[in-house]
Amino acid sequence: MKNYKPKDRLSAKEYIDGILNGDRVILSRGITIVESKLESDKILAKEIIQEILPFSGKSIRIGITGVPGVGKSTFIEAFGKHLITKGHKVGILSIDPSSQRSKGSILGDKTRMEELANLEDAYIRPSATGDTLGGVTNKTGETMLLCEAAGYDVILIETVGVGQSETAVHGMTDFFLLLMLSGAGDELQGIKKGIMEMADMVVINKADGDNIKKSEMARRQYQNALHIFPQSDSGWSPVVTTASAIKNIGIDTVWNEIEKYKTLVEKNGYFNKNRNNQQIKWMYNNINEELKQLFYGSKNIAKHLSNLEQEIVTSKISPVKAAQLIIEEFKQSFKNPAPN
Ligand code: GDP
Repeated sequence: MKNYKPKDRLSAKEYIDGILNGDRVILSRGITIVESKLESDKILAKEIIQEILPFSGKSIRIGITGVPGVGKSTFIEAFGKHLITKGHKVGILSIDPSSQRSKGSILGDKTRMEELANLEDAYIRPSATGDTLGGVTNKTGETMLLCEAAGYDVILIETVGVGQSETAVHGMTDFFLLLMLSGAGDELQGIKKGIMEMADMVVINKADGDNIKKSEMARRQYQNALHIFPQSDSGWSPVVTTASAIKNIGIDTVWNEIEKYKTLVEKNGYFNKNRNNQQIKWMYNNINEELKQLFYGSKNIAKHLSNLEQEIVTSKISPVKAAQLIIEEFKQSFKNPAPN
C-alpha cells in the first residue's frame, strides 16, 4: 500500500476492499474510522459497515472477563495460540473501562500477549471505551464486524470484570467466559452475582503448583453454586473447569466445551435466535441514546427543564404534569422547528 500518513483518509472502497482482503493495516485504519468522533468519519464508517455487513457474522464471539490479575492476558495468549494451531484466525478486542480515567491502561500495556501479537493469524486491538455504555457497544460491536469481514473466525472480547461493561460484552457475544481464582470468595474477587449468572463457563485459573488442590475444591464449589441459577434459554448448563494459563493446562478443554456449546445451540436454534435478539436490542439501544441526545441536547428544553425544576420544588406544578408539559413542548418543536 502507498505511504499514507495516519491522518489521511482512504476512499470507502479502499477500506472495504482492504478489509475484505484481510489487509491488517487497512483493517486497523478502518477501525480508527469507526471509533472517530468526526462527522465526516461517521458518514464514512456507516458506508464501510453497510458494505462489509454481508461478510461479517461468520465467527464465534466469545466474551472473556475476570478481575485484574486473574490471568486474562496470559489465558488469551495461550488460548489464542491454541486456536491458531487449530487453523483459526483470532481477533482480540480489549475493553478497559478504566483507561479513560487513568489514561495509562493495564490493557494498553505493550508486553501483554506479546507472542500472540506477533502471529500472522492474530489481530489484537484495544477497543475504545466510548463515553457511554452505548458507545462501547457501538464501537466494539462495529470493530467486531470489521474483524469478521477481514476473516477472523474467532473473536475474543476481553473486559475487566468489575464494571458494567460485562453486560455490554455479554450482549454482543455468543459465549461468555468468566475467569476466577481459587481461595478467594466472589466478594473478594469483586465478581457480582449477575456476572456469574451470565457465564456459560467458569475457568478457575492458576491451577498449578500448590494451587491444584484448592482449585479443584473451588471448581466443585462454583459448579454447585451455578446449579442454583435458573437454566438459561440456550439449554446449556454452565461448566466449571480448572486451567493453568501459564503452563498451558486445560486450555484445550475450554475450546472443546465452546465447540460443544456451539453444536448444541446451532442445533436447537438458540445461536441465531440470540444473535437476532442482540441485533434488535442494539438498534433499540441506539434509538434510546439518540432520543435522549435529541431531547437533552436541545437548549430550549434545557432552559425549560430548569424552570420546571423550580416550579416543582415550590409546589407550583406536579412532577407528572411537568413531564407532560416538556414532552408536549418537545413534540411541538418538530411541528414548528425553531433554531436551537
Ligand atoms: P490480567 O490482569 O487478568 O490480564 O492478568 P495477567 O495475565 O496479566 O496475569 C497476572 C499475573 O498472574 C501475572 O504475573 C501472570 O504471570 C500470573 N498468571 C497468569 N496465569 C497464571 C497461571 O495459570 N498460573 C500462575 N501461577 N500464574 C499465572
